[in-house]
Amino acid sequence: MPHYKYLVIGGGMTADAAIEAIRQADPTAAVGLIGAESSPPYNRPPLSKALWKGKPLESIWRGTERRGATLHLGRTARTLDVAGHRVVDDHGIEYTWTKALLAIGGAPRRLPVGGDDIIYFRSVDDYTRLRHLAEHGQRFAVIGSGFIGSEIAAALAMNQKEVVLLSLERGICERLLPRTLSAFLVDVYREHGVQFWGGEAVADVTRQDGRYLVTVGSGRTVAADGVIAGIGLAPNVDLARAARLRVGNGVVVDEQLRAGHPDVYAAGDVAEFYNPALDTRMRVEHEDNANVMGRAAGCAMAGRPDPYHHLPFFYSDLFDLGYEAVGVLDARLETVEDWKEPNRTGVVYYLQRERVRGVLLWNTWGQVDAARALIAEQGPFRAANLKGRLPAST
Ligand SMILES: Cc1cc2nc3c(=O)[nH]c(=O)nc-3n(C[C@H](O)[C@H](O)[C@H](O)COP(=O)(O)OP(=O)(O)OC[C@H]3O[C@@H](n4cnc5c(N)ncnc54)[C@H](O)[C@@H]3O)c2cc1C
Repeated sequence: MPHYKYLVIGGGMTADAAIEAIRQADPTAAVGLIGAESSPPYNRPPLSKALWKGKPLESIWRGTERRGATLHLGRTARTLDVAGHRVVDDHGIEYTWTKALLAIGGAPRRLPVGGDDIIYFRSVDDYTRLRHLAEHGQRFAVIGSGFIGSEIAAALAMNQKEVVLLSLERGICERLLPRTLSAFLVDVYREHGVQFWGGEAVADVTRQDGRYLVTVGSGRTVAADGVIAGIGLAPNVDLARAARLRVGNGVVVDEQLRAGHPDVYAAGDVAEFYNPALDTRMRVEHEDNANVMGRAAGCAMAGRPDPYHHLPFFYSDLFDLGYEAVGVLDARLETVEDWKEPNRTGVVYYLQRERVRGVLLWNTWGQVDAARALIAEQGPFRAANLKGRLPAST
């Protein structure tokens, strides 16, 4: 029965960041990782971006194995016994620990049709599967026009594939962006040859003559060599719930990232935390949060707690457009748009009760910290005193 002073459950970016921090604080302690994927931790963002622009697959690995941790890969933690400080995996192996971290992320939401014919794009295995299909096929159906769907559609189009982007929404990243910007993106995608079918629900996905046939609610069909979906993520909370840890929109943690027990922590996509600048509890599915929160959890586990008050930023690349963003980007909020060049370069402020809740830096770089500071300010803010506040890139 392996015993670890620190057991990290989950094998993603958060896990790796935590192990790096633990190692720095406690260089000789026994550290173990249980990861459901057969691969060691890797950076996920390149799977839908850089790897389609020529970066090699080797560039994604985080090198966790070199940090002196024992990696139990291809193993899923099935039960967590908090009082007994035990975990049992899907092979029946029991692990004991002094401190444990839940860094188990989330699972893609699935459609009721199509089964495993649909690639719910999340992992390096999904990337490899799609790459293989793209080597042999020419036409792809991408379901969902949020973060993942919009990036995969752009990646495939940039690789000279024919893409039909199907979405319940009528714009691209419509829940995030002001309506005009979301509609502008539809035009950009069309200019790059992507067909956008907005306001369409997928009714069925079947196989026909070695290809896939996607049928949408209006009755139209797309024959494709591959079907990829990005329709959201559900945090992996079952393990925590069964262990009677508190679960809300994720595993609930305090500011030291403890999950309701002094020896159990949670971080990354799975964790629900309080952010003081926004004065709200939140769960964030982005790289910066995985890295910084993972590190904070590792420090806290190793006896160097520092309250997690970080307001994460996130980013995306869509063809030649790109952005960084901080805080709450919710298209339902009041927005103030400050364009240097309409829809190409500018800043969008998201307001609620005269406070800035989020900032979108559209093709605008180097302003993330200034955006964080603005969100922390009390206000009151209106269009007149926001325009020009954060300069757009030249
Ligand atoms: C294709 C793609 C592109 C992205 N692009 C961006 C981007 O451009 N910008 C950005 O900010 N963010 C991006 N993200 C989001 C970012 O990658 C995630 O926020 C980050 O990976 C979360 O890391 P995590 O370790 O918390 O969770 P995960 O990455 O979900 O890792 C959790 C790991 O734990 C494993 N696991 C789950 N349950 C168990 C269990 N019971 N036992 C053992 N192991 C378990 C899972 O298999 C997984 O390997 C992207 C994500 C994807 C998928």
